Parts: sequence; structure tokens; C-alpha cells
Amino acid sequence: MNENKTINKSLWLIITIILALIVGIGCFLLGKNQEKSKYIKEQELSIALNRTELEALGDIEGPIYVTGHKSPDTDTVGSCIAYARLLQKLGYDAKPVVLGRINNESKYVLEKAGIEAPELLEDASGCNMVLVDHSEFEQSADGLSDANIISIIDHHSDGSVKTGNRLIYDARPLGSTATIVWMRYRNYGIDIDKDTALAMIGSIYSDTEALSNDTVTFADEEAVKALSEIAGASNLDTFWEEMHEAALSYEGMTDEEILENDYKEYECAGVHYGIGVIKASDKETAMDIAGRMEKALTSVKSSHGMDMVFAQIRYDVGEDTYTYILPSDDVAAEVLKEGFGDTWEFDGKGYLTSPSVSRKSGIVPVITEVLNQFPHE
Ligand code: MN
Ligand code: MN
Repeated sequence: MNENKTINKSLWLIITIILALIVGIGCFLLGKNQEKSKYIKEQELSIALNRTELEALGDIEGPIYVTGHKSPDTDTVGSCIAYARLLQKLGYDAKPVVLGRINNESKYVLEKAGIEAPELLEDASGCNMVLVDHSEFEQSADGLSDANIISIIDHHSDGSVKTGNRLIYDARPLGSTATIVWMRYRNYGIDIDKDTALAMIGSIYSDTEALSNDTVTFADEEAVKALSEIAGASNLDTFWEEMHEAALSYEGMTDEEILENDYKEYECAGVHYGIGVIKASDKETAMDIAGRMEKALTSVKSSHGMDMVFAQIRYDVGEDTYTYILPSDDVAAEVLKEGFGDTWEFDGKGYLTSPSVSRKSGIVPVITEVLNQFPHE
């Protein structure tokens, strides 16, 4: 009996020790894991990059042109300059170019940074090309199908550009292309010039509305922190206000030019469509512009040979942000009804939502889904 009790006691002691050990080890591992995830968070901006990938592109004869999309925006302009300068620092003969008129916001940013506007590229045939901030043929340089595309650096959905080349294709769902360019500088270990840094902040601010919209990531925030230190930019609020003011001044522009100011074309299920984004300072201005878009939508649709065109008008009321979208015709109206009819407010002409959404993540995916459901003939 006594012996049994002793055995029982020992057994319980062993079980208790084992349980304690399991709990102890468990806690230890959990702690380690938390430490590990914290470690990863801090390290996650370090992507594996090395210059051999550039060397693997082989000898590149002639200059490399770095371009963003047509209807250049500030991300396109800042990113083509920053990436061309990165390639220059790595020993390449690289040149930033644009594919059209630079908008008022980009003009302001370049003036503030003291950087000359990139030259216009008329035709890309036979050129070495790097595409930034887009990967759609529709949005890119004329003659691109006869060009040698060596890299694509982008933050949109994968586009229609197919190269058949082995290339550097760096696509990340971050707030701006300039953030990806910043990561590439960082990971190649190359210093960013002061003026380039300010242009890059302009790019990130333009695409993310000063780090406020739904596409902002940890990387974008870290990029702005690092770049503002390099640029010595202490008052980014004023910088953003002035960018915003410049962006909203449509002085001297026709209604068509206003619609084309930040305009992109897409193709889905055989349907070609365009979306022009127009920022307005307040509701009154937004509705005034909306009224003027009716004719402009029709004429841009026909001058660009599109099946449908949309005008996305964005404005703020106090802290609230709004998106109002208008169709060019009945078929386009049907697409909007199908995509947004259940969730957005309809006023008889267009659809309204708040908070505002971006064209890239809030509009294009919805239209894509609708067009893919349309019966194919
Ligand atoms: Mn862009
Ligand atoms: Mn962009």
C-alpha cells in the first residue's frame, strides 16, 4: 500500500514536472515567435536584390529610356526620374522621358525640387525601355512593341505588356511606384540625391493623397520618413497643400483636357474603356465639373476610339472624402449600375460613394468583374 502511494506520488510528480515543462517550453516558444514576427516586421523592407540581376541583362547598347504612362501623373514623373538616376549611379546610360503633357501638380513638384521636366519620347521603336508605374500597352509609348523592354517597375495589376525577354519585373502592391524605386535604391545600397528625394515624396504623396488613402502600406510610410530626412523637408503639410492647389487649378484647360489630365485606358473582355480622374476642391466645384463632363465624355470617347469612358470626380467635405462617377453613354451606365448600383448612391446621372476609392483598387476591379460577366458573342 505504502509503496503504491509512493509510486503514485512519484508518478504525479513526474506528470506535474512534464506538464510544467510543456507549459514552460510553450511560453518560451510563443515568446520567441513574437520576437521573430517583430524581427520580420522590421526587416521586411529588405528584399533580396543584387547587382548581378542587372549584369544578367547583358550588354545594353545605346541609351535606356525610363518612362511612365501616358497622361503622366506625379508618380510616373518622379519615378521615371528617380529610377533613371538610380541606373545612372549604377553605371548605365539612362534617361527619364515622358509620354505627354506634364500636369500642374507634377510641374509644382519638379519646380520645388529644382529638377527639369523629362523630355518627351515620341516613339519607342528600337529603344531600350524601362517601364515604371504601368504595364499596359494601351497606356505606354507608341512603338513599344518594337522596343527592347528590359525592366518593368510597377504597383498596378499585371498589364498587357509581354516582352518574351528575361527582364527585371518588380511589381508590388504598394501605394506608389516611387516606394518600390526607394526600396531598390535602399537594397542596392545607393544614396538618393536631395532633389530626387523630394520628387519621390511628391510621387508617394500624389498617389496616396499624403499617405491617407486605402492603398498606403508600411513601406510607403517608411519611404516618406527616410526621404524627408534626405530632402531636409521639414514641412510636408505645406508641400502637400501646395501640390493639392496646383493639382486643382484647371485654369486655361478645356473640358476635354480636364478629363484627359489623369486619364487611363483599359481593355477587358474585348471592351476598350477609359477612366479620367478629376480632383475638385469642394462639392460645388465637383458638381460644376460633372455638368461640364457630359459633352467631354462623348468627345473623348470618340477621339480615343473607346467603347466607353468614365469620369471619376473626387472631392472632400470636411474630413469626408467622396467619389462621384459618370458614364459616357447608356452601355457605360449599365456597367456602373451592375457594378455599383447596390452599394453606391445614384442621383439619376452618376454614382456617389464615401469614403472615396482609388481608380486602381476601387473602380477598375469592379468594372473588370462586370465586363467579364457580360455575355460574349
Ligand atoms: Mn500613375
Ligand atoms: Mn502610381
